[in-house]
Amino acid sequence: MYSMEEVFAGYNRRQATLKASSNRYAEGVAWVAGELVPLDEARIPILDQGFLRSDLTYDVPSVWDGRFFRLDDHLDRLQASCEKMRLRIPLDRNTLRQTLIDMVAKSGIRDAYVELIVTRGLKFVREYQSYENNLYLMVMPYVWAMPPQVQLTGGSAVVTRTVRRTPPGAMDPTVKNLQWGDFVRGWIEAMDRGAVYALLPDGDGNITEGGGYNIVVIKDGVLRTPSRGVLEGVTRKTVIEVAAKLGLETLLDFVPVDDLYTADELLICTTAGGVMPLTELDGRPVGGGQVGPLTRRIWEGYWKAHYDPKHSFEIDYPASA
Ligand SMILES: *Cc1c(COP(=O)(O)O)cnc(C)c1O
Repeated sequence: MYSMEEVFAGYNRRQATLKASSNRYAEGVAWVAGELVPLDEARIPILDQGFLRSDLTYDVPSVWDGRFFRLDDHLDRLQASCEKMRLRIPLDRNTLRQTLIDMVAKSGIRDAYVELIVTRGLKFVREYQSYENNLYLMVMPYVWAMPPQVQLTGGSAVVTRTVRRTPPGAMDPTVKNLQWGDFVRGWIEAMDRGAVYALLPDGDGNITEGGGYNIVVIKDGVLRTPSRGVLEGVTRKTVIEVAAKLGLETLLDFVPVDDLYTADELLICTTAGGVMPLTELDGRPVGGGQVGPLTRRIWEGYWKAHYDPKHSFEIDYPASA
């Protein structure tokens, strides 16, 4: 029912409908200073400290098959990140939620990547309290960190040698942020070494995460994922819940880089792409070199969870969208 092939076929049908749509927001819509504009026309003020210093936090929920998925988990994390950064979301929670739902409904997009960015704002003074924080919202067609056709066979990754993950003592990795200098260096190295995905070590022999995704190692039927130095992903949380339902244990702990090379299965996970199998690491096959049986079952459970009313709710699209 939720096999990779069936889930992608449903998505492809909805994509074909979206592509044929004449809705002006079908390719995306942004909310800037209270105004809705087509995504490619949206602009930010150049003096925003979010742009000048990446003084911001953000979050990315998603919509799948017309249902918002784990929206409150993402809003909770955004709120927690804002508190750590002494930022205030300029809309109250209900208005924010309703604005996002309205944007998705108006766009007619059934599978959406939704981004909320809270920046320090414009006023350049010393007291955090006297900044008027800015909010930017975007809704666009679903983004795949690993395209569906690649998910069927698995992606290729490297453990980076030229760059380590920014340590928690420098940047709090549990605050979702856009200071991606380390990830960008990782991508460059991955490209240079003929791979696509960069997995960053912590410099002390453990793996952390990659540009926008968490890492899960599967060995002897047990999942392991870093407890420290990473963003606490909502997708990873779902993966852990799905695994538990399958009777699989997940250990949150330090994960030595060496364990990746002896893994049975390896996956990365993010809202933008879901559960993404890795079948090649540093030019060598992972496990049998094919998408593993546990990854496949977790993958199916992950997409099935998108229809669970505990985790998602239906969006009421206007007939015209
Ligand atoms: C967003 C992100 C993730 C994945 O988080 P999800 O909540 O699963 O989308 C992992 N690592 C980093 C650095 C991220 O920015």
